Amino acid sequence: QTQSWQQLDAAHHLHPFTDNQALGQKGSRVVTHAEGVYVYDSEGHKTLDGMAGLWCVNMGYGQQAVIDAITEQLKVLPYYNLFFQSTHPTAAELSALLAQVLPAHMNRVFYTGSGSECNDTVIRMVRHYWASQGKPDKTVMISRHNAYHGSTMAGASLGGMKPMHQQGGLPIPDICHIDQPYHFEEGGNQDPETFGLERARQLEQKILELGEDRVAAFIAEPIQGAGGVIIAPDSYWKEIKRICDQYHILFISDEVICGFGRTGHWFGCQYYGIEPDLISMAKGITSGYLPLGAVAVSDRVAQGLLSQGGEFNHGFTYSGHPAACAAAIANIKLMQEQDIVTRVRDEIGPYLQQQWATLADHPIVGETRGIGMVAALELVENKVPRTRFHKDKEAGMVCREHCIANGLIMRAVGDTMIIAPPLIITRTEVDQLVATARKSLDDTWRSLQR
Ligand code: PLP
Repeated sequence: QTQSWQQLDAAHHLHPFTDNQALGQKGSRVVTHAEGVYVYDSEGHKTLDGMAGLWCVNMGYGQQAVIDAITEQLKVLPYYNLFFQSTHPTAAELSALLAQVLPAHMNRVFYTGSGSECNDTVIRMVRHYWASQGKPDKTVMISRHNAYHGSTMAGASLGGMKPMHQQGGLPIPDICHIDQPYHFEEGGNQDPETFGLERARQLEQKILELGEDRVAAFIAEPIQGAGGVIIAPDSYWKEIKRICDQYHILFISDEVICGFGRTGHWFGCQYYGIEPDLISMAKGITSGYLPLGAVAVSDRVAQGLLSQGGEFNHGFTYSGHPAACAAAIANIKLMQEQDIVTRVRDEIGPYLQQQWATLADHPIVGETRGIGMVAALELVENKVPRTRFHKDKEAGMVCREHCIANGLIMRAVGDTMIIAPPLIITRTEVDQLVATARKSLDDTWRSLQR
């Protein structure tokens, strides 16, 4: 059976972010079912999902309350849209529930089907907002190199992933990038706080270069996820906010990964104490059970958007799909009932970080870092002086393969290894995760020495 699925897949399916040619020889791993924090493949292997799927299955697999809510909704109203003055009960209820968990100054949301659609929406919304303020020339979005904001033309342009830009002739006009606050890779001998300030001040320089009257907004992930779990030094965010305020630039927090508890707060911006004008969210909003995204706007932005008749000529057939909204309501209520965000902040998050940090003594680990339920480690060949493995060795990929063979899904971004497990993971499962990571590091070291 496995082989037949692999053959069908290799013959007819173009995978995202995968060497599709290589799949013909190697075959995909066929994941057939999942429960709690574990996924199972067609060969019967049980693997601890250290990535919660794609950073999204925050409440773990098999949550009956979410499954039931979706099933009931499909029976009652499987589809209706939110265009032309229609709504449905689940969209209305979810909007109110989101207003409850969002920062206090945010009380309205616009629904999409994904994180990428959120960030496309953000660009159109921000332009619409500035036009409503009599500033139609404020159209430029500033983002960061190595950020990830999605795969649509606009999302990939906002993102700063070189391979994505190269394949599509991106970015599209009116999007530019500043450097990321990645101290381990780019900080040299500079102390982290000075480095953080310098990187933040690149935003100021860019605004001055382009002119305040042209710059619409700055968009960033509180923690850069797909770029390698890049955590800015403490000095960074306060300075970014000062600059946005001083030059009247909107700040958009892309919370597609950081949202819904991952940092021990409902949203990552709350971890840093910064108030965004817009928030993009997706993934954890339904714990990935159904596709849904939402853009939240501050009261000030909402007022601007409503000031000119209020019609925003934008929307998706699946904006606020009833079943997806039902999944989100059940998911968020479950999070509230289990007080999962507090658990991440005070209990399981600190435990994970404490255990993860023990890997720092491993001979091929140059740094461990993390916040809440997201963490990373850097693979190095030598610690002092620090050198990376030769690129051809593909140390990250080697480590990833050892992890899978040992029963753990970790993600490799170059030579940075990443975890973002479900928030419901137990202490025993954290112990298993870290022990398997250590064994896989040993195996990687051995393989790379050959
Ligand atoms: N923004 C961030 C920060 C992301 O990590 C992602 C996806 O990983 C996206 C946007 C795009 O979301 P989607 O894949 O749902 O379009």
